[in-house]
Amino acid sequence: MSQMRKIKVIGGGLAGPEAALQAAKRGCTVDLYEMRPTRSTEAHQTDDFGELVCSNSLKSESENSAPWLLKQEMRRVGSVLLAAADATAVPAGHALAVDRVEFSRRVAERISAEPRITVHREEVTSLDENDPTTLTVLASGPLTSPALAAELQRLTGSDHLAFYDSISPIVDATTIDMDKVYFAARYDKGTADYINCPFTKEEYDRFMEALTTAEAVEAKDWEKFPATGTAEKLQYFEGCLPIEETARRGRDTLRFGPMKPVGLTDPKTGRWPYAVVQLRQENLRADSYNLVGFQNHLKYGEQNRVLKLIPGLENATFLRYGQIHRNTYIHAPSLLTETLQLKAHPNIMIAGQLSGVEGYTESIASGMLAGIYSAAIANGEAPAPAPRLSANGSLTHYITHAETKKFQPANITFDLLPPLEEDLRKKIRDKKERHKLQCDRALNAWETWLAQTS
Ligand SMILES: Cc1cc2nc3c(=O)[nH]c(=O)nc-3n(C[C@H](O)[C@H](O)[C@H](O)COP(=O)(O)OP(=O)(O)OC[C@H]3O[C@@H](n4cnc5c(N)ncnc54)[C@H](O)[C@@H]3O)c2cc1C
Repeated sequence: MSQMRKIKVIGGGLAGPEAALQAAKRGCTVDLYEMRPTRSTEAHQTDDFGELVCSNSLKSESENSAPWLLKQEMRRVGSVLLAAADATAVPAGHALAVDRVEFSRRVAERISAEPRITVHREEVTSLDENDPTTLTVLASGPLTSPALAAELQRLTGSDHLAFYDSISPIVDATTIDMDKVYFAARYDKGTADYINCPFTKEEYDRFMEALTTAEAVEAKDWEKFPATGTAEKLQYFEGCLPIEETARRGRDTLRFGPMKPVGLTDPKTGRWPYAVVQLRQENLRADSYNLVGFQNHLKYGEQNRVLKLIPGLENATFLRYGQIHRNTYIHAPSLLTETLQLKAHPNIMIAGQLSGVEGYTESIASGMLAGIYSAAIANGEAPAPAPRLSANGSLTHYITHAETKKFQPANITFDLLPPLEEDLRKKIRDKKERHKLQCDRALNAWETWLAQTS
């Protein structure tokens, strides 16, 4: 106890209050900073702690679903915000939806009832990575204020902080001209899951001209590059550049990138086309496909015009257009340890959406872990990472180990959990049964970890 350090939590949204309350429960002194109402974000409407900025749903409560598992683990730890959600639930079928005003009121109540937490209503604009007396939990969210984002960029390097999320357009499968396109796997390796839209040289030139001159969505003030306030220097991870930006880098950049035709023999010609756009099945029903690598920042009308120049999509109906929206998050795979500390500056921890998790519940879960870990460190102990088999551990494993180039924030899904052992997989064909076993296994691992941690 003699080594106890102070904990500074930045952000009074979802992850921050949970982190502060968990650390305080473990005997730590916490300073909790929230910039609202002095300064707000584009999405927040109130000055409340734990504001749900959009929907009021904390996702599925169906037994043995991945979001249910995450919540069950959180309940077993005693997540304060999840308890507030449970107490303020409104009818929503199989989902946990809450009365958002009542939810925030309860969160505020718990914070003010905690004598170890001191609230500071001010914007934090600098981070002291070398202060040995303080541990910082940065939970300032996807709309982190520009000054703090610039400060984080100083600590992490410019390539490691993204300000935008990219979404590819989706096309209605019934509107694709199947006579013009073909299924193929590159070099016939694996199954032919992708639909390929083949271009001739002339078609490619026409498409490039339209793409590079199409009108982009104007960045709103709050979406502009935090450090400079300009939209010209949008900060994308190289793995998910908008397609028009890639196209502007050179006439052939797309042909050697997302429109690469090599190994995709067109059965009609017996040759590789000049370029292709690949369509990937979006759902199990196979009634929609997304355009691989076609995230973009163009106006919807412009997308409709330009994407119809793709052979086979002349009469396509787009179910969703590409988008890029403000979402500040770090490149966790290169920056974070499994205990949510910056590798280069272990006194600074990152939690919530800023760490690369996606969603309300995931953000609370990440705050919960940051609270537990920071309390252990403040008490002079080595924090034990959440077990890999659990939903919490799998989410952290994803953000800290994801394929680095294309890292994007993720919700909890079974894809993130380790699969069952092979003999069980072979024996059990029913997906629901498999998920149940994965949940049982996760909860067992979680209980063991909890017994060692709390
Ligand atoms: C517009 C929008 C809609 C979303 N809708 C949904 C949805 O419907 N469902 C869902 O599951 N997820 C949604 N998300 C994603 C995500 O779940 C939420 O953003 C969630 O609130 C993230 O929690 P957080 O604690 O990481 O950040 P936040 O809840 O945003 O909390 C961060 C807090 O830090 C404060 N802050 C920022 N900078 C500073 C600073 N310099 N100093 C002090 N305080 C600061 C902010 O004011 C804020 O209160 C949405 C995100 C956005 C941007």
